[in-house]
Formats: sequence, structure tokens, C-alpha cells
Amino acid sequence: MRVTTPAFVLRRVRWSESSLILTLYSLDFGRISGMAKGALRPKSKFYGQLEMLSLTELSLSRKEGREIDTVTGAGTVKSHQKLRTDPLAYAHACLFSEWMMGMVWGSEPSQPVFHLVDNTLDALEESGSGWPVLCAAVERLLRLSGLAMQLDRCSSCRREEVEGPERVGWRPGLGGVVCPDCLSEGGTVPRGLVGFLRRARQTPLDRISRTRLWPGGFRQCHDLLREFAENHLGTALKLNSLKVLEDLENA
Ligand SMILES: [Zn+2]
Repeated sequence: MRVTTPAFVLRRVRWSESSLILTLYSLDFGRISGMAKGALRPKSKFYGQLEMLSLTELSLSRKEGREIDTVTGAGTVKSHQKLRTDPLAYAHACLFSEWMMGMVWGSEPSQPVFHLVDNTLDALEESGSGWPVLCAAVERLLRLSGLAMQLDRCSSCRREEVEGPERVGWRPGLGGVVCPDCLSEGGTVPRGLVGFLRRARQTPLDRISRTRLWPGGFRQCHDLLREFAENHLGTALKLNSLKVLEDLENA
């Protein structure tokens, strides 16, 4: 079956001298894998059309029961050139890609997830500060994956008053924030993190980049999101770009 669909390139793995296996998030088929034969040859029709994080209009040959589709055509719609040439923005975008690969399985298409990828990459490309955009985007991804965090009332007794003066009870296994009475086991998180996540839900991604937290605050927020996701997925996420980001930030 020959099909076309817009798709984002989330990962490129070199398969042979000249071929690539791509992990893509497509509008019409959700997450898919595609083999692009000869893509690394300068004279290939794919050359420059399947760059990391680009949005491409993809033509595919799909066969029932086959895990990897064959890419038969590609034309860049958004190259995200600026994203790929700014090391910090690129590392944030790659980290988001890794979140996508950890959270999105199967080939169920989802327009909201597709638009989330689009908005996130645009916002990371345009904003000078990647962390708030990344954290807000991951919070959205969790919700779209059915893992919404409870941020407004106690996850256990449903009471609405959860805030301490500086810290808020947090039990990821129960779903999110808890009131002081339900905190018997579990830890607390800074109030500012819960406040940021609440605000992030109401704010478009291109505006959240102006938000500020204390030094290291967004990194704490990312750890919180990761712990929450891993708790509910029952498995560890592979987020290799985090190390790259740390090295860049400490350079
Ligand atoms: Zn409670």
C-alpha cells in the first residue's frame, strides 16, 4: 500500500553505508519506523529531506505485518535548521524526542500529539530558554498519554487545601499532590514547581519560555516529571540527551 503523510523525524539510525532507519511520528499513522535506502548518498533524492527533527511530507510503502515501512519519497516542510544549529536548543529538542519515544508506542494516530510535537519544536526554535518549554511540553505529553498529574487537590482524600507554606506533599504513585494529612509516606516538592506546572497547563508553549524559576528549578521540575512517568510506566525512560544538556550547561 502506498501512502503519504506528514511526519516528524524523531530518530535517525545508520543502517548501512548509505541507509537510514528512521523513527517518525506521523499525522496519519502515529509512530512508525521507516527504512530510507541510500539516504546518506549525496545524490539520493532523500538527501537533506530527512534531517533530525524536521517535518517532512513522507511517501511510504507499507505492508501488513511488516514492522518497518519503506520510505519512497520525502520533501521537507519545516527544516528546523535553526534548531539543529543551536546546540542547547538542539539538545532540548532531542530530549523531547526521547520522551516521545518513551511515552508513545503503537501506531495509533493522534492529532493532538502530532500538534504537540509541532508546537514544541517551533517554541524551542524560537525561544532562547529551552527548559520551561520542554517541561511544559512533557506535562502535555503525559496528559495526552493518559498520565495526567493531579495538581489541584489531594490525590488521596480529594481535599482542595494542599499547600504548605513552601512545600507541597507529593506522592507520584497516588497521582500527584497530597494534603498534609495524607502525606504519611512520600515526600514534598517546592510549591513553585507545582505552581509552574499549573501555569504551564494554561499557557501556550511559545509564551511559557518567559517563565523563570530559581537556579536549577526546571531541572528539578524535569526530575519530577520523569519520576512520575517512570512510576506509572513501570520502566525507566532512556533520556541520553540529559547528559549532553548537562555537559553543555556546565561548559
Ligand atoms: Zn488528603
